[in-house]
Amino acid sequence: MTDYPHLLAPLDLGSTTLKNRVLMGSMHTGLEETKDWNRVAEFYAERARGGVALMVTGGMAPNREGGVFPGAAGLFSDQDIANHKIVTDRVHAEGGKIAMQILHAGRYAYGPECVSASAIKSPISPFPPKELDEDGIEKQIADIATAASRAKQAGYDGVEVMGSEGYFLNQFLVTHTNKREDRWGGSYENRMRLPIEVVKRVREAVGPEFIVIYRLSMIDLIPNGSTWEEVVLLAKEIEKAGATIINTGIGWHEARIPTIATSVPRRAFTWVTKKLMGEVAIPVITSNRINTPEVGEAVLADGCADMVSMARPFLADPHFVAKAKGGRAAEIAPCIACNQACLDHTFSGKISSCLVNPRACYETELVIEKAATDKSVAVIGAGPAGLSAALTASERGHRVTLFDKADRLGGQLNMAKQVPGKEEFFGLVDWYETMVAKSGMELRLGTEATADMLAEFDEVIIATGVAPRDPQIEGQDGPNVVSYIDVLRGGAEVGKRVAIIGAGGIGFDVAEYLTTDDSPTVDLDAWMEEWGVTDPEAKRGGLAAEGPQPEPAVREVTLLQRKAEKLGKRLGKTTGWIHRTSLQMKGVKMVGGVNYEFIDAQGLHVSDGEARENPRVIEVDTIVMCAGQVSLRALADELEAAGRTPHVIGGADVAAELDAKRAIDQGTRLAASL
Ligand code: NAP
Ligand code: SF4
Repeated sequence: MTDYPHLLAPLDLGSTTLKNRVLMGSMHTGLEETKDWNRVAEFYAERARGGVALMVTGGMAPNREGGVFPGAAGLFSDQDIANHKIVTDRVHAEGGKIAMQILHAGRYAYGPECVSASAIKSPISPFPPKELDEDGIEKQIADIATAASRAKQAGYDGVEVMGSEGYFLNQFLVTHTNKREDRWGGSYENRMRLPIEVVKRVREAVGPEFIVIYRLSMIDLIPNGSTWEEVVLLAKEIEKAGATIINTGIGWHEARIPTIATSVPRRAFTWVTKKLMGEVAIPVITSNRINTPEVGEAVLADGCADMVSMARPFLADPHFVAKAKGGRAAEIAPCIACNQACLDHTFSGKISSCLVNPRACYETELVIEKAATDKSVAVIGAGPAGLSAALTASERGHRVTLFDKADRLGGQLNMAKQVPGKEEFFGLVDWYETMVAKSGMELRLGTEATADMLAEFDEVIIATGVAPRDPQIEGQDGPNVVSYIDVLRGGAEVGKRVAIIGAGGIGFDVAEYLTTDDSPTVDLDAWMEEWGVTDPEAKRGGLAAEGPQPEPAVREVTLLQRKAEKLGKRLGKTTGWIHRTSLQMKGVKMVGGVNYEFIDAQGLHVSDGEARENPRVIEVDTIVMCAGQVSLRALADELEAAGRTPHVIGGADVAAELDAKRAIDQGTRLAASL
């Protein structure tokens, strides 16, 4: 008997049966654009081996004008079809199924050729779209249908027509972007004509047996979005037009409400999909912030959907389903929804990977093989860098001893998990504990390793991390000054009025921690209220009439930095705005371009710019130091002085803008090469 009877139940689609209820949702990884088809094939084949029922590729452009960016991949030639056939053959050889997503970006296309319902520029693109005429619309429909038939020729099991997230088809649906007065605009009947026509023509092009998924925006989260009545009407028409499955889309890309970030509660939007259950006879898929088999199972058991879509969790662990099925759910590497190595890479034009799994999208390059000779390996420091090095070395058959002077694993991850909105880090630390226990490595917690203790090891890996930088501000030894470690490790008394010195990732985290008592991330109603999300049945697009209603901050916080740039500018590309907005909603004052003059009982004395103008005091009870880090590498230096050659990784190697992504990647790659 499995723990996940709903999740692992087959799903009969009529023409074919899916082996379980798990879909790997579409992700743009950038792999297709590398044109290394063996690499693309291995990415999907690895996930097919891991037992997922059906995968959806990243969005493929139906034509040049619809590509997300110039040069975006699509099936334009016989060669493209042959290349994609390499992928589908490998997936089928592994017993998997794969559908190709057809993504027409409309006005989100990052290029001057972009087209849409009306010539209204999106706030997230510099290119105003051209308004399509009747022939132009017909061309787009024909191109999408052609893309579908080419997908069939390339051996795909189906296609997903991208109709949500504010892309082309979505742009026709709502008056926010469709101001037309012809048969494609005006009434809802006219506005939904395009998606319906597209699904009809796709069905005609691929025949009755092929899987056609339609991704439907169930809650737009933009002004003048669809009403719930319109969503239901569209779903019914899409079913009639020939779709096999309806998948859920949540929020337009231009929406100012987070939909997948780590601070979004788990399964935050499954209630929206649930509203559609019973309205259509075809299966319905739900998505967003589902990242464990327990959550997936609960979503299905609660009748929210027929199937769950997870995307990023399959970057974190391709074997998610196989592990759930095999009673090894605790071994599933958890996606912490950080976006750091996936979406942040995509939006920076880099190939996606995963913070917790650096092999994601690098399956053919970063290969973890049994070592030719097994060695004794000492790893000093059980933070993310040390843990990944230790686990990878152990997987390769080395005899690993992991030291940490703390009495638990995780290093700085244990601080991150204290921050409201970062609860996912608990799961990550738990996973490391499970994997370390399973590996059989020797664990020496509560032990400060010395050079003598390391004399007999073949390899020594120093992952001793970082210490807070000393900002050398006059008065910093006063009783009103604490470090972020004192705060996040608990214990430090913090008054009601606070100044935070340093506005990096940790300064932002500390500000969140000090302004919030109860994390809305673990209370869906509170989170919806905070961001102003409501039922689309009550309000068009699901935007609450009263707007965001955050809980008042429990402290008055001023966040400072010396750089004269916008605070938080260097935070994650796709998540920085969420951190900034969240603190703004809490009334946190953000001050850049300051000099720290001195600290006294009154508070923090600052001035502005090089000329030290506008001297003033920020009257506060407590000052928290978040002024960055320096490497802790005394042990490495001592070993080197004694003629040894330790490997130094993570923060001990480079402290500047240290983060877990770089630490884990470096630790894994080092151990893969020992
Ligand atoms: P950081 O990002 O390097 O930021 C350090 C801050 O301290 C900056 O705001 C810097 O601004 C200030 N600073 C530097 N030298 C100073 C000095 N001598 N006196 C006063 N202020 C000084 O470091 P962090 O905030 O400690 O974070 C470490 C890393 O952890 C981050 O870079 C990030 O990768 C990771 N992290 C990420 C997140 C996230 O949200 N993704 C959250 C937490 C941690 P000025 O020089 O302008 O004053
Ligand atoms: Fe999930 Fe972060 Fe990995 Fe992206 S980088 S898949 S969000 S853990």
